[in-house]
Amino acid sequence: MQSCDTLLFAEIIVTQDESRSIIYNGGVAISEGNIMCIDTAAAVRSQYTSENVMELGNSLLMPGLINSHTHAAMTLLRGAADDLPLMDWLNNHIFPVEQNLTAEKVELGALLACAEMTRYGTTSFCDMYLIEDATYKAVDQSGLRVLGGEGLFMFPSPAYPDFDAGIKLVRELEAKWNKHPRIRQAVMPHAVYTTTPEILTTCREVAEELDIPIHIHLAETPAETKACVESFGKRPVEYAHSLGLLSGRTTVAHAVDVTDDEISLLAETGTNVAHNPESNMKLASGMAPVEKMLAKGVNVTLGTDGAASNNALNMFTEMASCAFLHKVQLLDPTAASAQTVLDMATCNGARTMGQSDIGSLAVGNQADIIAIDLTQPNLLPMHNPVSQLVYSTTGAEVHMSMVAGEVLYRDGKYLKIDYPALIDAAKDVAKWVQKKIQKRS
Ligand SMILES: [Zn+2]
Repeated sequence: MQSCDTLLFAEIIVTQDESRSIIYNGGVAISEGNIMCIDTAAAVRSQYTSENVMELGNSLLMPGLINSHTHAAMTLLRGAADDLPLMDWLNNHIFPVEQNLTAEKVELGALLACAEMTRYGTTSFCDMYLIEDATYKAVDQSGLRVLGGEGLFMFPSPAYPDFDAGIKLVRELEAKWNKHPRIRQAVMPHAVYTTTPEILTTCREVAEELDIPIHIHLAETPAETKACVESFGKRPVEYAHSLGLLSGRTTVAHAVDVTDDEISLLAETGTNVAHNPESNMKLASGMAPVEKMLAKGVNVTLGTDGAASNNALNMFTEMASCAFLHKVQLLDPTAASAQTVLDMATCNGARTMGQSDIGSLAVGNQADIIAIDLTQPNLLPMHNPVSQLVYSTTGAEVHMSMVAGEVLYRDGKYLKIDYPALIDAAKDVAKWVQKKIQKRS
């Protein structure tokens, strides 16, 4: 008998391992944050003991979901302005608030995002925002895992006066946080229309020098393509490629307006695509050709984008939206199958995070695990766990979330976040956000 830190037992385990195995009456042994053993409950019980045994009964265990593109602190703007033309929405509602952000406000918004993601089964996320240091503080507190980056622009941000100071800040943040077990960094130029060729080249060079990923919004709308052709003589994907930006190091968010040749280019260069179907629908950006990208071998992942354009950070509802969108896009009910979409939200997302030890439950991997209550009426009866996860689960059935073996949320209670205080702070900040918007309009 070996002793371990924690033992979990549950009726079903959807592992998302290489053979996509599902274990019925399963168990997981965890030590020092890693999975030591994952097998039938009988096999685990015969080999391991622990002082911390969680008998989760009629539950389903699975890897925590990976939100591969978001702007966590935009929770501050959730519902503050909707159903507006894009430029009115940005110029008169989003930017007036963002220009006045402080570290304190960003940390609050990010903590709220972490609370939401923890509650609804997301354990890792890719985040691009302003004053990202404050987001890292929220992640440190909440226990989640992040690949983050300071959003880099050609104009000043609340975090820096110009791009040179911005890229210096990236280096400082890397030095400050790179020993943190759950916080990793990427170089994150915002988009082709908010940067210059020189800025994008510097971003690539710094990412290569520090050996960290690159994350950028790309080809989100036909309007972006038009502006890119006018400014740089090339469509966004071609333009990014001409600057050496496309590679296995890079994740592009959106890739909505892409041609077949551009999809081939994304595949050949190993570039990852973070797909954000609900944001693309809400902002009327278009429908990304996800099935074509997958068929050509592009690693397509799933994200929510920020809470101002979704308006939730819920990867369960995002999975259902993704499946439905591509079925109707192609008028083909076999498109975007449940297993395909679950892969996007788990193992594919792990590649974007640059971590092969998350996104699936296997020996040696991080114990980033969520538990779903299978007694809820919307999950009965159980014919096919993967179908149930993508088409029926809302996220509200998550009753336990764990990262690196540490329980962050269980049975309605946050173990790392003072949630009542967060509710009060969210009420207060709403008044501040509304004042900033009213001042402008
Ligand atoms: Zn975005």
